[in-house]
Amino acid sequence: MIKKVRSIALFILNILFPKQCSACGYWGSYLCNECKSKVGYVTEQYCPRCGVHSVLGFRHERCYRSPIDQLYSICYYHDPIASLIGEIKFYPAVRCALEVIEELTRFSSIDIECPWWSDCVVIPVPLHPFRYRMRGFNQAEEIGGIISSIFNIPMESNLLKRTSFSQPQSQMSRKDRHQNVQNAFRLNPHYRKNLPSKVLLVDDVFTTGSTLREAARLLKQTKNVTHVYAFTFARG
Ligand SMILES: [Zn+2]
Ligand SMILES: [Zn+2]
Repeated sequence: MIKKVRSIALFILNILFPKQCSACGYWGSYLCNECKSKVGYVTEQYCPRCGVHSVLGFRHERCYRSPIDQLYSICYYHDPIASLIGEIKFYPAVRCALEVIEELTRFSSIDIECPWWSDCVVIPVPLHPFRYRMRGFNQAEEIGGIISSIFNIPMESNLLKRTSFSQPQSQMSRKDRHQNVQNAFRLNPHYRKNLPSKVLLVDDVFTTGSTLREAARLLKQTKNVTHVYAFTFARG
C-alpha cells in the first residue's frame, strides 16, 4: 500500500517537475549520460587526517590522532556532482539528486571493499533543528538511508544532536570551520546506555572534515564507541 502511494506521489512529482539534468539542463534525466561520463570517481581513497592517499581511506599509523578510522567517498565534489548536490537544497529537487546518488553508490564497490561496515550502525551528521525545519529533510540522513539499505544495517538518526546553529561553511577558511563546529554536537541522553561500538558516520560532502571529526571525537569520548568509519558521497 505504502509502495503504491509512493509511486503515485512520484508519478505526480514527475509531471509537476519533469526530469532535467542538474548540470547541463538537458531534459529527460537528473544527470544525463554525457554529464555522468564526466563524474570524477575517487579511485584511491585518502587518510582522514593528513589527506594523503591511504589504503581504502584508513588513517595512517602516524595519523593515530584522527578520531575517524576510515574515510570513504565515491566521487569528487566537482561538476557535475557539485551542481547535483547544490540542487539537493531545493526541495523537491532532493529526490533527483538522491536518485543519482543512490545509482552511483550502488554502482561502486563499497559493499565488497568495506565488508566491516556490516557490523556498524549508520549515524547521519545531523542538521540543526531550525535548519531541518526550513529544509524539510537532512541530506545526510537521506544518504545514510541508502547506505543502511546497501549493507542492511540500522540507522540511528537521533543519536547525535546538533546544538549550535553553525553558519554554512562553504565560504570559510579551514581555521574558521574548525571553530564553527567545536562543540556543535551532543549525544542524545536516551542512547547513553545503548551506544553502538562501531559507527558509520554519513554526510554528503567531505571538505576539510572538521564537522565529521568533531562528531567522531564526541562519539569516541564515550569509550563505548571503539570504531568510527565515515562515508561521504563526495569529497572536495
Ligand atoms: Zn547533463
Ligand atoms: Zn595520514
